[in-house]
Amino acid sequence: MNEFELIRQYFARPATDAVLGVGDDAALLRPTPGCELHVAVDMLVEGRHFFADVDPADLGHKTLAVNLSDMAAMGAVPRWALLSLALPRADTGWVSRLASGLFALAGRHGVTLVGGDTTRGPLTLSLTILGEAPAGTALRRDGAREGDDIWVSGELGLAALALAHRLGTLDEELPDEVRGLAEARMDRPEPRVALGVALRGLVHSAIDVSDGLLADLSHIAAASGVAGEVWLDALPSHPWLEARRAWCAALLAAGGDDYELCFTAPRSAREAVLQAGARAGCRVSRIGMIHAGQGVELLDAHGTPCYLGRSGFDHFDTP
Ligand code: ADP
Ligand code: MG
Repeated sequence: MNEFELIRQYFARPATDAVLGVGDDAALLRPTPGCELHVAVDMLVEGRHFFADVDPADLGHKTLAVNLSDMAAMGAVPRWALLSLALPRADTGWVSRLASGLFALAGRHGVTLVGGDTTRGPLTLSLTILGEAPAGTALRRDGAREGDDIWVSGELGLAALALAHRLGTLDEELPDEVRGLAEARMDRPEPRVALGVALRGLVHSAIDVSDGLLADLSHIAAASGVAGEVWLDALPSHPWLEARRAWCAALLAAGGDDYELCFTAPRSAREAVLQAGARAGCRVSRIGMIHAGQGVELLDAHGTPCYLGRSGFDHFDTP
């Protein structure tokens, strides 16, 4: 099968939400008048972001999910995607499963694949996502203010737990049920798109947690010129992790791949934030406070700072 047959067979679907989709030199899109266009790209590289033996359907899901998470963090509704693929060989069974995972998630979020690029090379996937939101409503990183509450959605640390288990760095056996849940969170994250939209107009700042809570929150703190304190005891997770808070602090506060939203909002918005979470069908937890100053600290039950060694994942951090 050649390049063009591969594209036609697996990636060219009718583009109902585009003037022109896959098949020409460029796609033609018609953004909603009065909206701003939100554009983001994320790349997944074999050996860096996924294991060589990954289920291609999971990989297709995750490639789109990590980008949808960026739209969620901006409060944008995702609409269009472009997929760039470097494949070592044209393995049609593999590509078909990749496409099935990607299109299943795309369908659930009303996202249309409108183009991409396909080449031979070391297995790499790069997806560009385009979304929109009414002008002026974007949830940015630079709006946190002194006195804001810090919130996080969902549960932290499960994907990092699955990774630690896989790498054999856990010194405790995982119950099967916990391992299954953790692996599902690592392989098939569910981006918080509905929550992002529900938080428009309520929050001062937002980011998605992909590299680790403290690392991502420190981007908000730096962009906003403020400091943050996070309470270890308040971090939401699975009961198994919550029962081992001290031991699992690094997984909870600095584990990667959570794809939850971390955001700050004024005290006066507490009730509205809880209602937004309920509308979006997603738990939201108050986990800390924004102060004057700089940096982000994790505090234990006695208010003593915990030092984890690292706050999150960095591709160019020297060990
Ligand atoms: P060009 O030579 O203009 O770059 P290509 O031959 O690379 O065009 O691609 C042909 C068409 O197929 C284009 O519309 C492109 O957007 C689309 N396309 C290529 N690869 C993919 C892919 N992996 N997923 C979706 N569309 C793709
Ligand atoms: Mg091309």
